[in-house]
Amino acid sequence: MPTMIVRTRFAPSPTGHLHVGNARTALFSALFAAHAGGDFILRIEDTDAARSRPELESVLLADLRWLGLSWQEGPDVGGKHPPYRQSERSQIYRAYTDKLAESGLTYPCFCTPAELALARKAQLAAGQPPRYAGTCAHLTAGAIEARLAKGLKPALRFRVPEGGTTEFQDSVRGAQSFARRDIGDFVIRRADGSPAFFFSNALDDALMGITHVLRGEDHLANTPRQLLLLRALGLQVPHYAHLSLLVGPEGKPLSKREGGGTVSELRETGFSSSAVLNYLARLGHHYESNGVMTFKELAAAFDISKLGKSSAHYDLTQLRHWQKDVISEVKEAVLWQDLIDSKEGERIKRLVPAEKWHEFIAFLKKDIKHCLFPSEAADYANMLYSGKLIYGDAAEDVIRKATEKYFSVALGSLARNSHDYKQYTATLSEVTGLRGRMLFMPLRAALTGLTHGPELDLIWEMLGPNRIRQRLEAAAEIAEH
Ligand code: GLU
Repeated sequence: MPTMIVRTRFAPSPTGHLHVGNARTALFSALFAAHAGGDFILRIEDTDAARSRPELESVLLADLRWLGLSWQEGPDVGGKHPPYRQSERSQIYRAYTDKLAESGLTYPCFCTPAELALARKAQLAAGQPPRYAGTCAHLTAGAIEARLAKGLKPALRFRVPEGGTTEFQDSVRGAQSFARRDIGDFVIRRADGSPAFFFSNALDDALMGITHVLRGEDHLANTPRQLLLLRALGLQVPHYAHLSLLVGPEGKPLSKREGGGTVSELRETGFSSSAVLNYLARLGHHYESNGVMTFKELAAAFDISKLGKSSAHYDLTQLRHWQKDVISEVKEAVLWQDLIDSKEGERIKRLVPAEKWHEFIAFLKKDIKHCLFPSEAADYANMLYSGKLIYGDAAEDVIRKATEKYFSVALGSLARNSHDYKQYTATLSEVTGLRGRMLFMPLRAALTGLTHGPELDLIWEMLGPNRIRQRLEAAAEIAEH
């Protein structure tokens, strides 16, 4: 038996930015193909002209590439089944709808959206599943002619065979069976001539030789319709794997607040692509290793039988963990370059003296939990190297409340001991009679301009006696006024 070459695809509609849930679908499809040494295909589903935004296609491609995905066929790289944009495949769709029509498997439907909505309402009120009521299913040739003569534009419906069930084996959800009487005749070509999703999506999968369709669980109920179409056309049916959806930490649909937004947003925040890649790969798929892996490593260990049936919980805290792991593992020179290339690059370069980048990166790595993103690194650069510290309001308030006396004692103690932080603060405590927050907060505010941040002993070491003195003097001045 010839071995099957696996071909998977990602088929986004360019109606918005790439959502993390869709990015995970793309990733699993790419991992599955790469694992099997097969091909991953990118197809743009832009048949809905009203909702498609062509300018988003390039953003979509850039986001996928940023994640580390590449495709062997697609709108930008070509391939053996072009075109890869559905808006350019109208002739193909027409040829196949004609084929179905010639076999008597379709009929024109003149129902208006208002009529359909009314019928739907009546069915729901009667406790029936909403499905096309079959109003136009048996129009005579004469009735059709008369409507066409009036200039009415019909949609084209596929006649679902009566009775029985349509079944398939889903690679994630197991055996599936749908009663055909619940399906209802469905539209394959809209009244404006454009192909409906069920049709163009299934047809392209078959024509492009897709062997495995990995897609969101929300498409599960579409599959029996698509199987009916493909079988009616005598085309190859792919294997389906419907992936569980992503939900927020509490099991509710993923919201923006939980970081369930778009890949562009994560990128903008400064998440590393490796952190996002590793986290998404673990959402609903178990890997033995919890370490940071490359796309190739993730593909090698990918196993479709490990995809879980229950919803996967997306949690920004977990993504932050991955970010931390990636930053701790990345080489210092790479991290520096990444910061320079980030949108905070200019600010960081201006603040960190050229010969100090090594020391700066080492510091960030030591205090990683506070310093996961370029914007935080830039704040640290400001705190550590700025000649003129900028004070936050809270810090200024703390400094004033501590009074000038505190800082003159602090400066006095510095003259005696500037090297050993522990010793220094012990002396300061003795002389001022202060402890805990009252002792440390004014010092922190004076040295960093903030009321939160890294451990003070780390700052102490980095600033060195001269800058510590300057900053205490500046704080004394603020306290005095
Ligand atoms: N364009 C469809 C979507 O974005 C594709 C669904 C599928 O993967 O079959 O939902």
